[in-house]
Amino acid sequence: MTPSQIEQLALDTRRKTIVDGPSIPVHEIAVLLGMRIEYPELGKDISGLLLIEDGQPIIGINSKHPHVRQRFTIAHEIAHYVLGHIHHSDIFVDEDNFLKVYRRDIPRSRDNKRERDANTFAGALLMPSNLLHEELDNRSLGLFDDKDWKKLADRFEVSTQALLIRLTKLGFFGPSY
Ligand SMILES: [Zn+2]
Repeated sequence: MTPSQIEQLALDTRRKTIVDGPSIPVHEIAVLLGMRIEYPELGKDISGLLLIEDGQPIIGINSKHPHVRQRFTIAHEIAHYVLGHIHHSDIFVDEDNFLKVYRRDIPRSRDNKRERDANTFAGALLMPSNLLHEELDNRSLGLFDDKDWKKLADRFEVSTQALLIRLTKLGFFGPSY
């Protein structure tokens, strides 16, 4: 799947709910997709789990992780589900770097592609480009300091790191912007 197809799929997924302001209700979107979210105690290196139990997709989110990180993990697990990565007998275990995933019979290289795609989807779902443009249009990027990025990240309820990765992918820091 290409990045622009993933972008489109994230947009379609977001349209399942009414978005009021820059903070995307990922929990609600997961529920609308028929998923259940639980907050088990997981090892500190584990961000989340995704499994299907009796036909019911279940997301497990590390109850100890910060709020913005939990939101990104929910979006990431939604991605695995929407992108068709998971099948009935699979359990996805997402570790810190989202790169270690345990599945049967799947070569590691394919796993990495799935993880990258899931992160691309999660970034697109949490930070739609039109909303980012709205937030940024009247500002000069050159005047941004760390506090401004944090403020903007807070409006989307994402980490500053996730925001900067997303903006870089969208070409905000390129010469044409
Ligand atoms: Zn993953």
